[in-house]
Amino acid sequence: MSIVEKFESMEYGTAPEDPKEVLAWLDRHKRRFGHFINGSFQPPSAGQYFDTTDPSTGEKLASVAEGSPADVDAAVAAARAALAPWQALTPHARARYLYAIARLVQKHSRRLAVLETLDNGKPIRESRDIDIPLVARHFYHHASWAQLLPQEFPGYEPCGVVGQIIPWNFPLLMLAWKIAPALAAGNTVVLKPAEFTPLTALAFAEICQEIALPPGVVNIVNGHGATGEALAKHSGVDKIAFTGSTEVGRSIRAATAHSHKKLSLELGGKSPFIVFEDADLDSAVEGLVDGIWFNQGQVCCAGSRLLVQESIAEVLLQKVCDRMSTLRAGPPLDKSIDIGAIIADVQLQRIRSLVDQGVAEGAVCWQPSVKMPTKGFYYPPTLLKNVHPTSIVAQQEIFGPVLVSMTFRTPREAVELANNTVYGLAASVWSESINVALHVAAQLKAGVVWVNCTNQFDAACGFGGYRESGYGREGGREGLREYLEPAWFRNAPKLPAAERPAAETETDGDAPFATPAIDRTVKLYIGGKQARPDSGYSMAVRGAKGELLGEAPLGNRKDIRNAVEAARKAEGWAKATAHNRAQVLYYLAENLAQRREEIVRRLAAAVGEKQAASEVDTGIERTFAYAAWADKFDGAVHNPPVRNIAIAMNEPIGTIGIVCPREMPLLGFLSLALPALAVGNTVIAVPSETYPLIAGDLYQLFDTSDLTGGAINIVIGYASQLLKVLAEHDDVDAVWCFGDEALVADAKSMSVGNLKQVFTNEGRVIDWFKTEQAEGRWFLEHATQVKNVWVPYGE
Ligand code: NDP
Repeated sequence: MSIVEKFESMEYGTAPEDPKEVLAWLDRHKRRFGHFINGSFQPPSAGQYFDTTDPSTGEKLASVAEGSPADVDAAVAAARAALAPWQALTPHARARYLYAIARLVQKHSRRLAVLETLDNGKPIRESRDIDIPLVARHFYHHASWAQLLPQEFPGYEPCGVVGQIIPWNFPLLMLAWKIAPALAAGNTVVLKPAEFTPLTALAFAEICQEIALPPGVVNIVNGHGATGEALAKHSGVDKIAFTGSTEVGRSIRAATAHSHKKLSLELGGKSPFIVFEDADLDSAVEGLVDGIWFNQGQVCCAGSRLLVQESIAEVLLQKVCDRMSTLRAGPPLDKSIDIGAIIADVQLQRIRSLVDQGVAEGAVCWQPSVKMPTKGFYYPPTLLKNVHPTSIVAQQEIFGPVLVSMTFRTPREAVELANNTVYGLAASVWSESINVALHVAAQLKAGVVWVNCTNQFDAACGFGGYRESGYGREGGREGLREYLEPAWFRNAPKLPAAERPAAETETDGDAPFATPAIDRTVKLYIGGKQARPDSGYSMAVRGAKGELLGEAPLGNRKDIRNAVEAARKAEGWAKATAHNRAQVLYYLAENLAQRREEIVRRLAAAVGEKQAASEVDTGIERTFAYAAWADKFDGAVHNPPVRNIAIAMNEPIGTIGIVCPREMPLLGFLSLALPALAVGNTVIAVPSETYPLIAGDLYQLFDTSDLTGGAINIVIGYASQLLKVLAEHDDVDAVWCFGDEALVADAKSMSVGNLKQVFTNEGRVIDWFKTEQAEGRWFLEHATQVKNVWVPYGE
């Protein structure tokens, strides 16, 4: 036998990790765990426990307390009581606690890795080399944020008591992503781990005890979905951070809409893995192994859609199949296996059912003849070829080791296919041409793009989605921001409730062309042109003393639809250079200054002379300010501890629907529309109901300032009615709604459909004259989303 033949015939031996210490730890706890509330383990108030099992054998590991609403109450009360003393600590003291946690995670790293693998079924190689080191890194990184908080976030305060709900695919890592920034920002926490994987969270609770973290700062309540729901709905919680399925994300959005809870959602994905013909194909294949077979594909950002350039499809797919045949499935504690167990039978059935549906829709299923364990929940690595882009397996998250492949011809087609999804979490681009790769990366609608690499994570680099993959980021500066709020905003008084129009019909209005315009005719403004309203109705606009000032057209659903279409077509605005956008805004300020007197005169009839003059003068200054911001709201370049740079870009969100505040017709409009425009969004604005005639002055200004037609559109009408159309429109990417409490609650609950980002005043008073409250970064941050593009360097 030649040496080559010997190598080829050699079998791997087993290399099992010894779970002895972890089993002893479970035994020490008598294989029964309570909740961790106020610094100690406590039995469930209803006395109920559920089992957690090893998915690779189906054997029970321990029983765990089932959280009832009373347990959630107790945990929230403990977190609330701990809040003031925790915040009273110096930033340095909080930093030391986080640092101590990081140290202990490192010291107990092997135990945590084995426990994670036992409870989750993931290969020990992954929990040992990826999950746990990233957990420690997250706490180290956030220990330093705790230290730097006052210098780096002046004027910001923690949200308060934070409810956190995490999934089962990266149990301890998701805990770290949630707890580390929350504590660093000065919040206290109630966390609910997933029912399938509660054990490492309980080991973490012990670490909290070991470092003598003040009781109540971290609380852990176990349980099923109902426990998570009780936490999400709890009135004592100030913020919810959730990672999990888009479906549950939606229900949490709905459940929190009528509260002031801040919300961040990290949801599902169907991430493209794009391979161009000039890619290093062998590296791309290894990338795929990490992209889709890592953690059995149970990864929200898994590279589950292989998009390959047609010219190399055959070669690449052959290489993929060859590599798949060498993947080893087996007991997760074996250090030399690649594919561990699926989390539970229900997930296994879900994967099977989706693959069956894909095949029924025409996909060709290929699985290597790898040896699969006979016990436990396993699914073989799977490739689905000939998949149509509309097939269920190309659109839905399978959350299993299943890769679907499609081909493209040109970079443009690749981008179209890649973006043909409701999700937008991550993407991976493979090309040896940095120009092609970065050009494509810029066009992908995804929160993270890995160039010639995949599944890279670091605490310094934000992670999170576009579109139905959720909103908010975890990691980095933007991740920390999710746990902070401007102090002035938290203390702002409530706006009085506004009167709603009597009839809430779509084409409401009781004066069909009844009263001739006194001052002049104002129209809607769509696609850079004045437009008559579809309804043919108008609304009477009255002055401060009730006198009739004029008639304003009453826009309806169709006008909004036209406006959205126009906004979508105004892509040139997003593509314009920041310098060009700045020039347009400067020109706008110039034109506003020139027409100051006449605008003040008209506005004065509605809001009085003094306010009108101040609105216009501050408006000129604000327009100037956003012209200044347009080319200054830059991103960042991160240096993660691998040979990569991560370019964090502030990208416009897309098309934003803005319902302007009633109280400040001109300044309120400008303060919201301008930050959105400055960073390249297109806008559909509904002007103040109090004085919508301001639209006439505004569109004349826009017309004379070289603004791209369609970049801003104005639809006049009743806020409550037009808000609904904007919030429910799938081509509107975000809704900004500034009104009373009821209106902003509507904005949140109506936006559940495609999970659009919602920015509101929470029904509070904003002093639109104050720069601190009404201008600058806070608005620009809401007008953008961070995309991290990871680029490796070195040979
Ligand atoms: P879920 O979204 O149901 O679970 C995530 C977390 O939310 C768990 O802690 C869960 O509790 C909890 N939860 C469930 N229902 C509610 C509710 N109504 N209110 C508040 N919290 C709730 O994911 P699943 O575990 O059910 O997985 C289903 C599918 O979701 C997977 O097949 C996969 O496609 C996707 N998924 C995506 C993830 C991602 O990171 N993108 C992560 C996990 C799943 P409990 O565990 O007890 O149900």
